[in-house]
Amino acid sequence: EDTRLWYQHYPEEIATSIDYDEKPLHEILQDTTKKYPKLQALHFMGKELTFQQLWIQTERVAGYLQSLGLKKGDRVAIMLPNSPQSVIGYYAAMMAGATVVQTNPLYTERELEYQLKDSGAKMIICLDVLFPRVKKVKERTDLEHIIVTGIKDYLPFPKNLAYPFIQKKEYGKFEKPLHGSYGGHVHQWVHLLKESIRNVEKVEVNPKEDIALLQYTGGTTGYPKGVMLTHFNLVANTQMSQQWIYKIKQGEDITLGVLPFFHVYGMTAVMNLSIMMATKMILIPQFHAEDILKIIEKEKPTLFPGAPTIYIGLLNHPKLKDYDISSIKACISGSAPLPVEVQEKFEKETGGKLVEGYGLTESSPITHANLLWDKRVNGSIGLPWPDTDAKIFDSAENMEEMEIGEVGELAVKGPQVMKGYWNRPEETEKVLKDGWLFTGDMGYMDEEGFFYIVDRKKDMIIAGGYNIYPREVEEVLYEHEAIQEVTVAGIPDPYRGETVKAYVVLKEGSNVTEEQLNKFCRKSLAAYKVPRIYEFRDELPKTAVGKILRRQLIEEEKAKQENQ
Ligand code: AMP
Repeated sequence: EDTRLWYQHYPEEIATSIDYDEKPLHEILQDTTKKYPKLQALHFMGKELTFQQLWIQTERVAGYLQSLGLKKGDRVAIMLPNSPQSVIGYYAAMMAGATVVQTNPLYTERELEYQLKDSGAKMIICLDVLFPRVKKVKERTDLEHIIVTGIKDYLPFPKNLAYPFIQKKEYGKFEKPLHGSYGGHVHQWVHLLKESIRNVEKVEVNPKEDIALLQYTGGTTGYPKGVMLTHFNLVANTQMSQQWIYKIKQGEDITLGVLPFFHVYGMTAVMNLSIMMATKMILIPQFHAEDILKIIEKEKPTLFPGAPTIYIGLLNHPKLKDYDISSIKACISGSAPLPVEVQEKFEKETGGKLVEGYGLTESSPITHANLLWDKRVNGSIGLPWPDTDAKIFDSAENMEEMEIGEVGELAVKGPQVMKGYWNRPEETEKVLKDGWLFTGDMGYMDEEGFFYIVDRKKDMIIAGGYNIYPREVEEVLYEHEAIQEVTVAGIPDPYRGETVKAYVVLKEGSNVTEEQLNKFCRKSLAAYKVPRIYEFRDELPKTAVGKILRRQLIEEEKAKQENQ
């Protein structure tokens, strides 16, 4: 019997240890298709695909990629928003024996070039409107083939559709299909589906060794590194997710796919989990609060993995009350701290559950979550998942374990932990010690085995010798009725080293002064933690999964100070 503290809260239905399937990731699609060929797998802007259709298309694309010379271990980049192609391309590349490299459709030429070069990708599947960007960098990379696909491959082109990842100058190229005029290295998706009736040659995969995915991370500090996740890492994390959500039965329920699949969180918690669970997945290529409210009312999804900013965006929409969103049963919020205020309000509006979880790219990503139907503690990231060990250490160098309640660096160990960083053994050594992954997040465990993140190690503010965790200050500010969104950062200060600054987005029609906010904070926070400076903005800079880019705000501030 395992005596680790957190297991006391596990209900009977969740095993503390799981028998993992040692199989390649794409086989989860095959297994579900065998069981439920006729069930709907995907919903994309009104059009649906069954598992059987999804499987057939995946096999054809895989066969086509092989016919282009793709070999086991080659890298295939994918640059797509959530769409049937983003699902098909992902499993097809793996089926063909390749490693998938996810790229963000928002990447500029420079970012794209860096990632293609670093990964050595040989082929890319990209959205047609991104083709000009890909073509420009092709000669400077190892790319041999470009596969282009657009909305038109599945749907008539919807009018008034605007994508944020399309740069102005690329606009207008939409409706014109790219005919073969670009030479033999450019391929149309329809061509892949229609003509590649070639059989896929089965590639032997060693699930524990072979890399299914290179997922780039660390873009806010230095250069992004490719995280090597094996087939086993990803299958294991998906099986853990399935255990955790135990009341949801295979073949039932519908998942809302708002989180982008090019981020590991959307990939596991939405895509791989939906495929394993045979739940229909609604593909949302872009976040628009009102569109999402409409879709929830119409399509009645029950599962809704998301991030705090997504829930905040919906809750603050002026037309929230006009829509029925009561189909939502279960939500997990990850990628950033979930303000308790937001959690409670969202549960009230939907009548469903919203619990906080935690993870990082290096762990496929989920390591912790609150239980959905059983014990939870709001404000905590919850309990370690099955087979997942977690400890709080003083530092990666000393590896001395902290006492219960003491803050230190969180480290995790389990079958979902990465193999390492691609071509960066020294970087890998810094974060992987005796199988423990050092997360770079500061936190503690309570006497019940629940874990808490106080902040990222590098985001801690030191002002006048005091340590301040931005999250604590943000949590207080979120309680203020005028505030929609806020982030707190340490900006350079000649006297105090750093000083606390709050970047605030107010709710529509709200007004508040700095003085009022100061007073409000003082009720709950020691004086040294109260922001000295406030800046009111219309919005905050964010990543694709809604992580607020605090570093970017600090860099802006530094540049401003230097220019003074
Ligand atoms: P990424 O690798 O992009 O998924 O980012 C992982 C990082 O997101 C973690 O190291 C944490 O700093 C942060 N993060 C994820 N979930 C949470 C959470 N529930 N609370 C606080 N920070 C989180």
